[in-house]
Amino acid sequence: HAKASGRNNYQFFREAMNQTAARHFELESSLRGALARNEFELHFQPIMDIGTRRLHAMEVLLRWRRADDELVMPDHFIPIIEENGLIVPIGEWVIRAACMQSMRWQQQGMKPVPLAVNLSPRQFMHRGLIESIRRILDETGIAPSLLEFEITETALMQHGEQTLDILGQINAMGIRLSIDDFGTGYSSLAYLKRFPVKKIKIDRAFIKELESSAEDQAIVAAIIALSDSLQLSVVAEGVETEEQYALLQRYGCQYAQGYLFSQPVPHATAQLLLPRS
Ligand code: C2E
Ligand code: MG
Ligand code: MG
Ligand code: MG
Repeated sequence: HAKASGRNNYQFFREAMNQTAARHFELESSLRGALARNEFELHFQPIMDIGTRRLHAMEVLLRWRRADDELVMPDHFIPIIEENGLIVPIGEWVIRAACMQSMRWQQQGMKPVPLAVNLSPRQFMHRGLIESIRRILDETGIAPSLLEFEITETALMQHGEQTLDILGQINAMGIRLSIDDFGTGYSSLAYLKRFPVKKIKIDRAFIKELESSAEDQAIVAAIIALSDSLQLSVVAEGVETEEQYALLQRYGCQYAQGYLFSQPVPHATAQLLLPRS
């Protein structure tokens, strides 16, 4: 009996695997033409200044709008394009589209705020990256100070000297760099000080239960205090409640991002959040 049900479990498992593999294959093949079909769009999520409660910057988040109008979230397709290399052209499209949007808003009389674009590890290590950033700055005319790149600490830890060199070149162009999802990898702030990085984003995992977890409170307060003494600014990710906001303010955190202020929204909605110049 146990054997029979074991076999059933196995069969069930194999079917589930086949379904997952089929979905993966289907996604991968339609992703190949997605850029040409113009199916990607950018959403924007505000990053607020905790002291003034004013808009500080916006993070640019990629969405895939499929022909059937299904909106696919990045966690479902970034790993696939990261693996097959499509992240390079798609990531370049994101940087260009973000810069074009910033220029369009400025032409429409909005006060410019920095846009923070995510860079994946493969994109970061690609040889053509620096050249393509230069070209985009040139073509769009955006001020480099209005662009920021977010890189996860895990991506930074993967390669030694080359990483330092690329970061240095981006920094020399006048584009700010920040460490995304800080605290989930294995690096220390002291180590990160070797990089020309000015800002860290504390991962949502530490904010989620901030009100109730004494440990998370200790960790977050310590990250903020140490960042402060290293002259790094800090963004708390995933802020959803006023209680979390108040604690972060008490710890001296400068910036916050999360559903408390806004979910990521399409450009037309994001525009309403921008001050007029
Ligand atoms: P991330 O860079 O850490 O972005 C923050 C994620 O947290 C976003 O998910 C955002 O919607 C979500 N978030 C923000 N505030 C809250 C909150 O208060 N509560 C909760 N539960 N979630 C919140 P999203 O848009 O699904 O993006 C997921 C990840 O996909 C991003 O994490 C980033 O690593 C990656 N990604 C998104 N766009 C791009 C892109 O253009 N290029 C690359 N390479 N990666 C991207
Ligand atoms: Mg990010
Ligand atoms: Mg993050
Ligand atoms: Mg993340």
